[in-house]
Amino acid sequence: MNFINDKFLKNKTINKKEAQTFFNIYQQLGLAWEFLGLQCKHWDNYKKIKNKKETCKICGKVKGNENFYILLPKTGPKKMGAILSPNSKKTFKNKKEAQILNDTIDFYGAILNVDVFNSYKSNLFGNKHEINIAEDRIVKLKERGIECSLDKHLIHIKFDKIKIKPGEKYSGFPWEIKKKDLKKFPVIFDFDKNNNFLGLTILR
Ligand SMILES: [Zn+2]
Repeated sequence: MNFINDKFLKNKTINKKEAQTFFNIYQQLGLAWEFLGLQCKHWDNYKKIKNKKETCKICGKVKGNENFYILLPKTGPKKMGAILSPNSKKTFKNKKEAQILNDTIDFYGAILNVDVFNSYKSNLFGNKHEINIAEDRIVKLKERGIECSLDKHLIHIKFDKIKIKPGEKYSGFPWEIKKKDLKKFPVIFDFDKNNNFLGLTILR
């Protein structure tokens, strides 16, 4: 990077088009250096630079700055980030201030989103009635037209293949639904000999 900078970018005799090419090379090298820096454990300590900042003696990363990229191993299980949960008793002004994490990964076509936030104030249906949204950690997985969402109180599965108008969705416990209607629902309940609920299976 220094070589490109000293020899070409600082060279005033070079024409605009050529300078752009070397600028692009410089950018690519910078990106490569950033990936290399991700492997650095900064074990040679930091040196002081201006503005009270410190940089790693090996890779030059500024101490306290977040990495822009994440390195993951190609084989074996991948781990990204530690588990995060709501961390304050306070009710924040809006979701933005209450947000701890909202991140999404497209993993070989399966979309996974983790949304973690503290309690915040919101308006119901856009009117003036202010309500408090409770803190939560919501995990959503979308795969082939099905969305599975897990939060503190509910596990919800949604099929997006049937489009319905607002207000046309009904819900009920199995004992509230007529047996002949219930027979159309491809759901199998799992339970033990003491009738403890163990899970359920939905046939597609
Ligand atoms: Zn380093």
